[in-house]
Amino acid sequence: MRELLEVIESPDSTARDAAALPVPASYRAAVLHKSETGMFEGVAPADRDPGAAIHIQDVPTPEPGPGEVLVAVMASAVNYNTVWSALFSPVPTFAFLERYARTGGLAARHDQPYHVIGSDLAGMVLRTGPGVRRWQAGDRVVAHCLSVELEGADGHNDAMLDPEQRIWGFETNYGGLAELALVKATQLMPKPEHLTWEEAAAPGLVNSTAYRQLVSRNGAGMKQGDNVLIWGAAGGLGSYATQLALAGGATPVCVVSSPQKAALSRALGAELVIDRSAEDYRFWSDEHTQDPREWRRFGSRIRELTGGEDVDIVFEHPGRETFGASVYVTRRGGTVVTCASTSGYLHQYDNRYLWMSLKKIIGSHFANYREAWEANRLVTRGRIHPTLSRSYPLTEVDRAVRSMHRNEHHGKVGVLCLAPEEGLGVRNPELRARHEKSINLFRTFEGAGVGGHAAVAGAVG
Ligand code: NAP
Repeated sequence: MRELLEVIESPDSTARDAAALPVPASYRAAVLHKSETGMFEGVAPADRDPGAAIHIQDVPTPEPGPGEVLVAVMASAVNYNTVWSALFSPVPTFAFLERYARTGGLAARHDQPYHVIGSDLAGMVLRTGPGVRRWQAGDRVVAHCLSVELEGADGHNDAMLDPEQRIWGFETNYGGLAELALVKATQLMPKPEHLTWEEAAAPGLVNSTAYRQLVSRNGAGMKQGDNVLIWGAAGGLGSYATQLALAGGATPVCVVSSPQKAALSRALGAELVIDRSAEDYRFWSDEHTQDPREWRRFGSRIRELTGGEDVDIVFEHPGRETFGASVYVTRRGGTVVTCASTSGYLHQYDNRYLWMSLKKIIGSHFANYREAWEANRLVTRGRIHPTLSRSYPLTEVDRAVRSMHRNEHHGKVGVLCLAPEEGLGVRNPELRARHEKSINLFRTFEGAGVGGHAAVAGAVG
């Protein structure tokens, strides 16, 4: 792997140097074991530790098939799907791998007793399979996580509608939390060259998801002047949704759960922020009953911040806990756009507020290649910045996953795979210098400790 690193890091190395590199027979990866899918049976959900399911071990290197690419992974990132995978919840991901394998051909390779997880990467193309023309060994890339077959007609207006649509590293094997990864050539995009490897790996999944959900016409189709309520605004999805709203001339109303996260949202440029913990919203009075008075209190607070207006769009993902409130506070004719259900997927809402006020609920899931490309282009141009707060070495993916499961993290959590340290991989220092403070915002904030947060926010904002 040392030779590999030298080629990746040398400014003089050529495609030929990269193509001449030997492909190791095996590589180190963060994996789950099929034999352990029952490990949390009988353990209360709150006591389940996703870190306990993650193993770092060598796995055999897969050969890239037609249209596939083997990437040397410099850095990756933890996503919430890593948490779901390691909790074996709501279903063990091995069920996805078995189903994929049953489609036949090369897909059969994905059904293994181990699952290499991870749905983000930044790295260098090591080998291309037959028929790959656009990418070659030595290309510096990031990968989005949409894996499609596109053999049927359904996916040809919008690849997310392909019946064989899968999330790479979650519903397929050979994911990004590893030294090597197997992707389809149609997952690759150019690495933003003003960013380090770990910064470049951070936005991928969440930025693309937020872009489709909020900006794309396949999602809410946000326009200038819209008020956008953003749940979890200092988390993974929310930190990009906040930036996309601001960059698109909308007004984000950011909901967070601590003064630190409120300061981070302000430092990103948001002016309207609600600390849901400090204001103690209790949308459910018991397990089965919601409290409409709390929806009204929340709606009044939003109007207080916006100068009397309701929100045009609600950017939803907490799910059961917040969905009733989200439908209630959306303006007449407005849109709730949802991509997840972190707190539970059986939602309840009062349908009278939906139909009488002509509101819409839109389901959104990841992004098609074009949307992921547009989202990556915004990063490449320095319009949207990574929100990386901390990076862990590959050997400590368990710690990284735990911090996300406990909601202790800010923005994105990175993982160094082949990269021996942070800070490597920048090839456009001029663009970086123009955005250095914004690129470092979440990391600086993390390092500043409680007392320093206001100062950091002031310095950047
Ligand atoms: P994240 O980094 O953990 O951020 C989620 C944020 O949601 C947290 O920071 C938290 O913010 C807020 N939150 C959590 N529980 C909440 C609750 N009960 N009520 C209100 N707010 C709550 O995770 P993420 O990466 O943004 O992902 C969020 C969800 O979206 C996950 O379920 C993930 O699997 C899903 N997702 C789906 C797609 C897709 O393509 N469909 C893509 C990406 C993610 P505060 O505590 O500060 O309020």
